[in-house]
Amino acid sequence: MATPQSKGKLWRLQVYTAAVSLLGIALLLCSLWQLRQTSPEIFIFVALCVAAELTTSEAIAPQLAISMSSAVGFAAVLSFHPVAAVIVGMAGGLATTLVKDAADRRQGRRPGAALLRRILFNMAAFGLSIITAGLIYWGLGGRAGDPLLATNLLPMLVAATVSELVNGGIVALAVALQVQEPARKVWQQNMSWATPMNVLGMVVGGGGLAMGYHIAGIIGAGVFFLPLVLTIYAFRLYIAQSKSQMGRLEDLIAQRTEDLRQANEELTHLDRTRNQFFSVVNHEMRSPLTAILGYAEMLQASPLLSPDQAEMLHLIHENGRRLLELVNNLLDISRLENGRLNILAQPMDLMEAVDQALDVIRPLAQKKRIAIRVDAPPTLPNVMGETRRVAQVLVNLLSNAVKYTPETGRVTVTVTRDEARPMVRVHVADTGIGIPRERLPHVFDRFSRLERDDIAGTIGTGLGLSIAKGLVEAHGGEIWVESEEGRGSTFAFTLPLAAAQDAAS
Ligand code: ADP
Repeated sequence: MATPQSKGKLWRLQVYTAAVSLLGIALLLCSLWQLRQTSPEIFIFVALCVAAELTTSEAIAPQLAISMSSAVGFAAVLSFHPVAAVIVGMAGGLATTLVKDAADRRQGRRPGAALLRRILFNMAAFGLSIITAGLIYWGLGGRAGDPLLATNLLPMLVAATVSELVNGGIVALAVALQVQEPARKVWQQNMSWATPMNVLGMVVGGGGLAMGYHIAGIIGAGVFFLPLVLTIYAFRLYIAQSKSQMGRLEDLIAQRTEDLRQANEELTHLDRTRNQFFSVVNHEMRSPLTAILGYAEMLQASPLLSPDQAEMLHLIHENGRRLLELVNNLLDISRLENGRLNILAQPMDLMEAVDQALDVIRPLAQKKRIAIRVDAPPTLPNVMGETRRVAQVLVNLLSNAVKYTPETGRVTVTVTRDEARPMVRVHVADTGIGIPRERLPHVFDRFSRLERDDIAGTIGTGLGLSIAKGLVEAHGGEIWVESEEGRGSTFAFTLPLAAAQDAAS
């Protein structure tokens, strides 16, 4: 809908188109008057011009169509009096408008202005560009007849170029007034690129036609007209093909975009479902498991249990504990993946975490008569971290060390200051079965478990190391492993010194 502001500016467009149309009508009257002195063969050119428009016109952009009618108009300029040639150009303008109007109606587009107004304006634009071409051609010394005369070539070229610019300029100004943008910009964006092609079409096509007419009259013109029409017709087919290809591509892109949108929607839905699942796991599995473990522990303290009952209770407790560990591990993995695992880092004594971990691991180690040694400097600066989480890393590494070390082996925890960086290093070394070289790059992957005969029956989920890695990295540290099959493994990780973090902040 036109806004009051655009309505206000619309009068300029109306005045402009009316002025151009009036000029066109005056020109038409002049050329009709001139017709009395011109060869009636001019009407053959009119017919050729209309035929050219009907067979070759192809819209390549909303405001732009290519056709051969301007070449025929130009041939008339080269062959007749300029004012008489105007009638050919105007016939071209009329045919262009009718062809475009029919195409618009076929495609359901509603043109902005009434048909008569468009006809008058386009005829005027064509007429004015033809008269300009004629005046320049004749003014520069071009002669009617043989365009191949060397003296005619330069006037032809200049006349065709100026005529094309006049036509483009008249149309660009109308479009500019309509869309309220500078005419220069409209011309540059929509018409400039076609100018050389149109000038070439006028000089070569129009020149050829005029030459044919000069040599063999109207038959000669026809002989030159046909190959030109065929060439442009082929070009038109090519453009139509490209357009349908582009249409198909656009459909394809639209389809792919829709697919992506749906996939994205599904992923969002999956993510929501997964979060819901984990919150259910958190509340609905951990609470009953904690209750089971609590009651099992209370019952284990009872002196009334028979040895069988005590054994069964031990199994209940042990399996419950493993289940709780698995649930906790899954929740940690999920939090790490979602970036929702928050570390409450504060200056902490690393040895406190080591002690907490050893309290958990020692009973297991004792069962296998594995000695655990701790090697740490007498004083150690605080590290930045959450004691509970650092202890969890150590428990994961130590439980593996005990699990994968045969009876009477050794496990050593070594704590040192990193000489190069403000970090503390922790090494957990064992004398166990080691890890094959080709498996080393994957030990920190989720669910990566090594299937080996010598450890068949060892309980595990393949989550411990992946969680340890996530936790260490969440603290700003690194974790790595060195191992030799049959000789043992050393897992090491770093944690930042609290002082270094203070200095950095
Ligand atoms: P889990 O021990 O529950 O299987 P982890 O993620 O802790 O899962 O370990 C992944 C795999 O790495 C283990 O299955 C084991 O094959 C190997 N691994 C881990 N630590 C050691 C170790 N200290 N010695 C030998 N192999 C180990």
